[in-house]
Amino acid sequence: MSSPPFSRAEMSASSPSQAKEQDDDTKPLWTYVTKIKSVGGGENYEIKCNICDVTFNEFYTRVRTHLLKIIGKRVRGCQKITNAKLIDLKKIDNEATLRVEKSKTKFVSLPPVSTQHQMDTNTLGVDPKKRKTSTVESTFNLQARETLDHEIARMFYSLGLPFHLARNPHYRKTFAYAANNYISGYQPPGYNKLRTTLLQNEKRHVENLLQPIKNAWSQKGVSIVSDGWSDPQRRSLINFMAITESEPMFVKAIDCSNEIKDNDFIAKHMKEVIMEVGPSNIVQIVTDNAVVCKAAGLIIEAQFPSIY
Ligand SMILES: [Zn+2]
Repeated sequence: MSSPPFSRAEMSASSPSQAKEQDDDTKPLWTYVTKIKSVGGGENYEIKCNICDVTFNEFYTRVRTHLLKIIGKRVRGCQKITNAKLIDLKKIDNEATLRVEKSKTKFVSLPPVSTQHQMDTNTLGVDPKKRKTSTVESTFNLQARETLDHEIARMFYSLGLPFHLARNPHYRKTFAYAANNYISGYQPPGYNKLRTTLLQNEKRHVENLLQPIKNAWSQKGVSIVSDGWSDPQRRSLINFMAITESEPMFVKAIDCSNEIKDNDFIAKHMKEVIMEVGPSNIVQIVTDNAVVCKAAGLIIEAQFPSIY
């Protein structure tokens, strides 16, 4: 370090008073504890929680551990804090973390650490000791972010997930929601929940969204549009869409890679779609002009004279 080393006496003389620390908006939780001289005397001090009167040794990290009930640290979580208060404190703490992050990005374009450190100390009068702890804390946060990044990346690599999943709005919303809501102990849905309850809920949700379109069918009349195509895995598919005045709706797709696509096969599936949409709602069926489709069309017209 280029700045002259502080002697012990100077250090304790310049160590920030509690009032000063309470003003530090990057460490707002100081407000909820009291600093007391250690029983043994000397320079050490203890911290007493204003809520439950438990005492522990110095350091802001321990204040956070106690008040925010962070699990797995040496200081025990506060036993008297209410859930509402806890949510409150976590919010305050989170805002402070954001402020630290912000101030860090402000320094990005500045010269290397040693010079910058000197500048801070000289121009802003920031105590070097205090400056150091906040750097450690923000580094910790940075590390947590990096760990999370790596974990997410590994999820992509180990399963071969397509990278454009990262552009999926639901993917982004998921993490934004988790970061902004303090759902303690939250576990993401597991294998079974995804393929049962949640899938059914989502299906119901989509059906609700489609209901207004379906309601318009009887008044406006429907065209069924069908086309055959091959998906990226070269499976031969036929899809059916129900189209009204302005809104198309997907009805179904059939995988016919192991089927013989003859007149009867296509007519059979067309009939299923007709029954689903309701024969009286349908005005016409549109297909490409493959021979089998024309033949299937004749079968349908014979059975449903109102459909063209
Ligand atoms: Zn407490």
